[in-house]
Amino acid sequence: MKTVLKPWQFNLVTCCIYLLFAIFTMQALHTLSTWPPAGVALAAVTLFGRKAWLGVAAGSILSVFYHFYLNNLDPFSFNHLVINLATSTGNTLAALCAFNIMYKQIVLHNPLKRVENVAGTFIFACAAMGMVSAIFGVGIYYVLGLEWFDGLFFGVLNWSISNALAAIAISPALYFLWRRWPHKMTFQNVTQSLLITAITVLCCYLIFGPGYTHFDLPILQPSLILFPLLYCAMRLSSTLTSCMNMLVFCLAWIGSNQGWGYFYQHHAASAEITLQFFFLFIFAVVLLVQAVFNQRQDEQEELTRLLEQRVEERTCQLEYQKQKALKLAVTDPLTELYNRRGFFKTAHHLFSQYLRHPGSCALLLLDLDKFKLINDNYGHAMGDEVIKNTADILRHFTRESDITGRIGGEEFVVFLPMSTQDDATSLAERIRQAISEQQVTLDNVTVQYTLSIGVSTFDQNDKTLETMLKRADKALYIAKNQGRNQVQYC
Ligand code: GH3
Ligand code: MG
Ligand code: MG
Repeated sequence: MKTVLKPWQFNLVTCCIYLLFAIFTMQALHTLSTWPPAGVALAAVTLFGRKAWLGVAAGSILSVFYHFYLNNLDPFSFNHLVINLATSTGNTLAALCAFNIMYKQIVLHNPLKRVENVAGTFIFACAAMGMVSAIFGVGIYYVLGLEWFDGLFFGVLNWSISNALAAIAISPALYFLWRRWPHKMTFQNVTQSLLITAITVLCCYLIFGPGYTHFDLPILQPSLILFPLLYCAMRLSSTLTSCMNMLVFCLAWIGSNQGWGYFYQHHAASAEITLQFFFLFIFAVVLLVQAVFNQRQDEQEELTRLLEQRVEERTCQLEYQKQKALKLAVTDPLTELYNRRGFFKTAHHLFSQYLRHPGSCALLLLDLDKFKLINDNYGHAMGDEVIKNTADILRHFTRESDITGRIGGEEFVVFLPMSTQDDATSLAERIRQAISEQQVTLDNVTVQYTLSIGVSTFDQNDKTLETMLKRADKALYIAKNQGRNQVQYC
């Protein structure tokens, strides 16, 4: 129902197309036993909403005027004016009635998309549309004391069927042509469309046209027309399928009016009503099959979308798990610092940059003093607490660019990029002091502990990180030997 046109614009369009179809019906089909403008009215309310009633009413009034004019009747006589008014009111109310029946689907933009919409609503709306306009159109003759040529009952029946049939045959084509405009056509689309049109026209010529008499083949049965129509419904677009329905409807009708084809040959007297019932059934089936395939395609697309979404979610999850596993592989679970592997991997990478562009960097090797005693005296849990506390203090004193790891039981290491001997020893001193002043409490038991730190800095002769580490280890050894709780440089 969303349209870019203003109400006066879509009403004008509706009125003009309604009138065009009415003139075509009266001039080319030579009959009122089918009323294609009913399809225009239904398409108009489906596309533009109930505001299109004015276009329908105007188109209908002008069409009835034209009908009287064509039959050399005075369109302005009292009776004809009343008939015009009643017929146009009926046609307009019929369209509004169909609109109300399909309201939900129209709002959702899918009146012809799902099987239940076509079967339960669209076909029902077409039938209601035919009936409402028939009651007004034929009824007015009785109100005015005039006889309908084949009686009230058959009058209402024929009118209902002809309008319902026109609505089923015409409105889907107009609906899709308008809604999907502009139609993006590839070369393959055009070829397919031309081919299927040619086949459909040929079938119509053979079944409903002069070809039927000419070839006189028993195989030329009306149901053959289902082949091209169902092929369209199953394989090609909804627009093309509904256009083929409209084409078949017009060709069959023109043929029958000329006295050609299967129905006229076999049921001359009832050719019209037989044709109407036959096509009511055929078009309803084609629309239903088309809806089944549309729905299936939609469901497949939805499934594919869901599947793609799942795959994407799963890929994200796997990526997350992978990152987590990679992080775990280089992380010490107790302190969440780098483990030995993580530290050396990261520090080696950084160290190699110093080999290319020598600068100052330093290494701290830290070992808790008499840690065994803490374990022995206070238990392993307290030992763990002390290790975690040490990690927290290291995190607190180091920078983002420093690399800190726990490389042994109670042994830590810090790689300090862009740090001189002074920077490193003063940092080590601050860490040592902070730890010696820190108390660790677990289950109401408090311990105090110390650590010794060995410091080394980058030397022009260093080829690997391990040589720096060896010097830091040597310094640490000296610190331990000289009484612990101190910083030594080597
Ligand atoms: P020193 O001052 O000479 O370094 O003495 P120390 O007792 O600290 O020396 P040592 O290296 O012999 O002791 C380290 C102890 O740390 C041995 C081991 O029981 C303990 N340890 C190693 N890993 C852990 C751990 O993850 N948790 C706890 N609680 N203890 C650990
Ligand atoms: Mg140790
Ligand atoms: Mg120790």
